[in-house]
Amino acid sequence: MRTLLVFSACCLLAGAASAKDAPASAAKGAGAASEPAASAPAGSTATLPVIKKPVRKLTPKQQEEQAEAELSAKIAERLAEMRANQAARIAAAAKAKKERDAREAKAKLVAATAPPPRANGTYWTYEGEFGPANWSKINSDWGKCNAGTRQSPIDIRDGIKVELEQIAFDYRPSAFSVTDNGHTVQVQVGAGNYLSVAGRMFELQNVHFHRPAEERVNGRSYEMGIHLVHKDVEGKIAVLALMLERGRPQPAVQTIWNNLPLEKRDTFTPSIVLDPNDLLPERRDYYTYMGSLSEPPCSEGVLYLVMKETVQASPAQLALFSRLYPLNARPVQAAAGRMIKESQ
Ligand SMILES: [Zn+2]
Repeated sequence: MRTLLVFSACCLLAGAASAKDAPASAAKGAGAASEPAASAPAGSTATLPVIKKPVRKLTPKQQEEQAEAELSAKIAERLAEMRANQAARIAAAAKAKKERDAREAKAKLVAATAPPPRANGTYWTYEGEFGPANWSKINSDWGKCNAGTRQSPIDIRDGIKVELEQIAFDYRPSAFSVTDNGHTVQVQVGAGNYLSVAGRMFELQNVHFHRPAEERVNGRSYEMGIHLVHKDVEGKIAVLALMLERGRPQPAVQTIWNNLPLEKRDTFTPSIVLDPNDLLPERRDYYTYMGSLSEPPCSEGVLYLVMKETVQASPAQLALFSRLYPLNARPVQAAAGRMIKESQ
């Protein structure tokens, strides 16, 4: 019952406090002085009423009512204080969120307009973090590796069968050196080895190996591949690609294996010669398409000449390379509607 009374008093007083002129009218007239009345002190901005002490002696009922009213006023005051504190906390939290949002928006804007961090790494691999999917992120000059549309290798299929001109080889026994460059075994061949095709003459620069072969033919993949990289006087590149299959020993491959350097990133220069003709298959039919370097920087405009006849190598010769490089082939890239021509 007392709780109900307190609650009622609280509500009544709060109602009176919200009506500006209520305390003034309650204080009007001498008769009104006998009643407990609330009035705001002059100049006060407080919304809560202040209880005046009775002038005359009060009846017990009046005393009880006054006590109730005083208690109610205190409760109302405390409630108002709590509400004010709560409102202040909400306002502070809202302000902090607004400031945080502004900071985040600014950081986003800075990140969007700032130039990308300069990438100039040169370390790359065929697998993992530095593998083909991330080559373009390693060095700012390697963008073509992931953004190019004329990339190599590809799966060679749907070629247009035409009378392709024969490739004219002008290879000769040459001095050579063998390097294990960390990506493959690469043979540098002395000057004066040429192939001619499409009215251009390209000089042999190096011979290197991939496992498996990078190019596929009608979806088929080969255990190993050889690339003979050529360059013409204008710097244009032509790659002659050979597919290696299990079979009889390959004499030129054996000569190269015999002269491997003992250490990675080392070069061995023997005092014998290597004849690049010994690597070529008998038949000279080929597929041709425009592609790219199949390793960083993935430069495009590279002429590919992929020999149709495979070259054989012995299981031991293939096994030796697999110990050095179990996987050093870039995955096939989208042909993207490129024209592929092939000998009839
Ligand atoms: Zn290659």
